[in-house]
Amino acid sequence: MSTAFDAVIIGAGPAGTTAAIRLADAGWSVAIVEKRDFPRRKVCGECIAASNLPLLDALGIGEEFDALAGPALERVGLFVGARRIVAPLPPMADARHRWGRALGREHLDTLLLARARALGVQVWQPWAVKELIHDGDAHVCMISQAGAQSTLQLRAPLLIQAQGSWEPAPRDGDADVDDPRIPRRDSDLLAFKATWRDARMEPGVLPVLAFPGGYGGMVLGDHGLTTLAFCIRRDVLQRARAVHAGTSAAQAALAHVQASCAGVGDALAGAALAGPWLAVGPLRPGIRRAWHGDGRFAVGNAAGEAHPILGEGMSMAIQSAWLLCDRLIAQRTRPASPAGMRPSFTSPGQDYARAWRLNFAPRLRFAAVCAHLAMRPQAATALLPLLQRWPGLLTRGARIAGKVRQAAVSSHGVPARPPGPRPDLPPAPGVHG
Ligand SMILES: Cc1cc2nc3c(=O)[nH]c(=O)nc-3n(C[C@H](O)[C@H](O)[C@H](O)COP(=O)(O)OP(=O)(O)OC[C@H]3O[C@@H](n4cnc5c(N)ncnc54)[C@H](O)[C@@H]3O)c2cc1C
Repeated sequence: MSTAFDAVIIGAGPAGTTAAIRLADAGWSVAIVEKRDFPRRKVCGECIAASNLPLLDALGIGEEFDALAGPALERVGLFVGARRIVAPLPPMADARHRWGRALGREHLDTLLLARARALGVQVWQPWAVKELIHDGDAHVCMISQAGAQSTLQLRAPLLIQAQGSWEPAPRDGDADVDDPRIPRRDSDLLAFKATWRDARMEPGVLPVLAFPGGYGGMVLGDHGLTTLAFCIRRDVLQRARAVHAGTSAAQAALAHVQASCAGVGDALAGAALAGPWLAVGPLRPGIRRAWHGDGRFAVGNAAGEAHPILGEGMSMAIQSAWLLCDRLIAQRTRPASPAGMRPSFTSPGQDYARAWRLNFAPRLRFAAVCAHLAMRPQAATALLPLLQRWPGLLTRGARIAGKVRQAAVSSHGVPARPPGPRPDLPPAPGVHG
């Protein structure tokens, strides 16, 4: 089996698989490394904004998504204390894809990865990238299989980091020092998620939950399951655990949410947990690095993470990968560089980093403002009379959040075709092996 590729991608979340599908369809040889076995559940509210649905069509999983996903999300809500405010979500102009929908990550990520595999992407799973080394023109990923000691090297001139942001990044052999450990802070956000059967959740409504020290969301998704996902500050969780002694962290956190958000308790009364709780954290929202100055790029959460109050993380993952691949593929259609010459990533790199900031930095800032308001009961309570009088402000907020903004547009669908590189394209510059 070859271990040299045009591109190696770390992580098979929506960002990594989007990049893998786009590059493979353009004729690149691609490897993707994913440390977890699929299907796997993941902490996520699982709402996919309508702006991504044309992209899922173009990636080749639109029909499967349509068949599986939950009801169209036509309204946005705010649950604070005993209050519930509901307003229309803004629709997309595309008549086929007016509204977002929710689909469990165990389905979405599996569909995307299967599509990448069908297009000839070599999938290393469950393998983890342990270390990155820069060797001349190549990026070298040291990978090892789950539970095994031995390592293997994957080489490529292009490395796409799509490993998310909730686990330590692979060790960077080029860095002078490893990242210092970030100390625990009271303000750290810990995230929880669970799904329920038979919850009394109104179909088509996407409420934001605001409670002291945290925020979250709730939605009716696929197979009649209701997903609840939320973030809570470390110090608030500690106090909740002291109050609800003898319960798990997730149960204490849920009790805190239910006590401060009546809509959650009402929806879950009589509902049955479907599967165990999941937890991750601490979350560190913020902008990271989209381009590392050579053939090394980051997409999705690895490039930047918004507070998940707006549920736009998967949009940013899919759309950032799309923006990057547009630029990489366009560069490759230029006349091939003389044999052996290193491909230049400067132009797509600068352009991608600029496009990333333009499209996503405002969403990150808006999400941060919303998150800090939601976590402070006085601020949320002060805003309520305004929102009750003008619920359309929630609609406007959803628009500013990017719910109908298409950072990336598909010019054509990715056609179904047999696996393997496209015979009609020249080899990529800098191909090894
Ligand atoms: C509480 C909460 C609610 C949310 N709700 C929503 C929502 O409703 N809608 C929405 O759009 N977004 C939501 N998000 C955000 C969304 O989940 C993320 O933004 C999204 O998963 C990012 O996608 P990604 O592909 O960048 O990374 P990920 O989905 O995190 O995928 C990264 C992958 O890389 C793998 N990996 C990691 N390290 C390695 C390694 N060293 N080697 C190999 N593989 C590796 C991981 O196993 C993982 O599969 C929510 C987040 C939270 C915390």
